[in-house]
Amino acid sequence: MAGTDVVIVGAGVVGTALAAALRRRGRSVTLLEAGEPGGGTSATSFAWINSHKKTPLDYHALNLRGVEAWRRIAAEAPDAVAFTGHVSIAVGEAHRASLTQRTERLIGLGYEARWATPAEARARTPVPVPDDALVAIFDGEGHAFPRRWIARLAPAVTPARATRVEAHDAGATVHLADGGRVRAESVVICAGTGTAELVASAGGALPLVPPVVDSPAFGYLTDVAAPGHGITTIVKTDRLGLRPGEDGTLLVQALDLDGTADPRTPPPATVAAEIERRVAAVLPHTRPRVIAVRAGHRVIPADGRTAAGRIAPGSPVWAIATHSGITLAPWLAEVIAGELCGGPAEPLLSAFRPDRFHHTGTHDALAAPRAPGDQ
Ligand SMILES: Cc1cc2nc3c(=O)[nH]c(=O)nc-3n(C[C@H](O)[C@H](O)[C@H](O)COP(=O)(O)OP(=O)(O)OC[C@H]3O[C@@H](n4cnc5c(N)ncnc54)[C@H](O)[C@@H]3O)c2cc1C
Repeated sequence: MAGTDVVIVGAGVVGTALAAALRRRGRSVTLLEAGEPGGGTSATSFAWINSHKKTPLDYHALNLRGVEAWRRIAAEAPDAVAFTGHVSIAVGEAHRASLTQRTERLIGLGYEARWATPAEARARTPVPVPDDALVAIFDGEGHAFPRRWIARLAPAVTPARATRVEAHDAGATVHLADGGRVRAESVVICAGTGTAELVASAGGALPLVPPVVDSPAFGYLTDVAAPGHGITTIVKTDRLGLRPGEDGTLLVQALDLDGTADPRTPPPATVAAEIERRVAAVLPHTRPRVIAVRAGHRVIPADGRTAAGRIAPGSPVWAIATHSGITLAPWLAEVIAGELCGGPAEPLLSAFRPDRFHHTGTHDALAAPRAPGDQ
């Protein structure tokens, strides 16, 4: 049986960032990964860094910390993140109404949000902007390249699948699919959509939204080749979300099409055709071609709120599960690493601890993200 200070299960953006933060503090870490580092939900993320529609206020506060943490990363790793802002262009009534509500709320909160003219939107994006469009710009928002960031953190990963976590008096043991075991002072479960099962095996509860089609659980992300596209920021129109992808591609969302997304089955061909049609309409100077339509599986605790901390008071087993995982990973990693090293509990996380699920039974179904500004 091997020994280490901390075992982290899962080398997604969250587990990798935590491993790096602990190693910087001199702790020995075993980072277990059943597949490819960064190959889980972190690989199918729009990776918009924001606190745009994060309610209530305590969740907004967390996401602001995440944005600040990414700003520090931008200074040292400019290939991993771009703070080029977000331009929202509303033409239809429903989008105009939601953009008005979101922008006024964010201006009231002192967030970097402002109304802008169609002329400024035209200067910031190649998308055609009608003279009567409603435009808002969010200068403080950015977009990350999770794979590049994970590669930069250079996680030393142990390839292994955890099957169960067992807490005992002097720490915890992770049981592996190959029959091996790893023992540590603390175990942190960062297994994305596999988190609920592992937390339950350790006697805790961290339910996630069920993996059901046409629910918040699944959403498409489409890679589009559109040479010369000219998109450098997050752009949201009535029916598209656009951002620069890796290797000069575009990363595209059309949330209203997500009702058929299911990572277990190939997407209907109509989705790629419709995305191509919509991209061609907003980028008429390109000849867009869909490279891949991928279905992502969101990591959403059943009540919709991030969970980070011990699975029960005093337990050596910790867990982190969040649907704002790209935005929050660098901040959460520093905070949880500090706590694991004996630092004080982070007050901003007091309402986000996993042990809240011991006291709550059922949860209201969450609304699926289907409109611009959702995620
Ligand atoms: C369509 C979509 C759009 C999104 N857009 C945004 C956005 O714009 N902004 C934002 O902040 N967030 C966004 N998110 C959410 C964000 O991508 C996730 O919150 C984040 O990637 C979760 O990272 P993670 O490390 O927790 O999970 P993952 O990336 O899934 O990593 C978990 C890892 O654990 C491994 N694992 C699982 N079980 C085991 C086991 N038993 N043993 C060993 N290893 C195991 C997996 O292989 C995986 O590599 C989006 C998500 C989706 C699906």
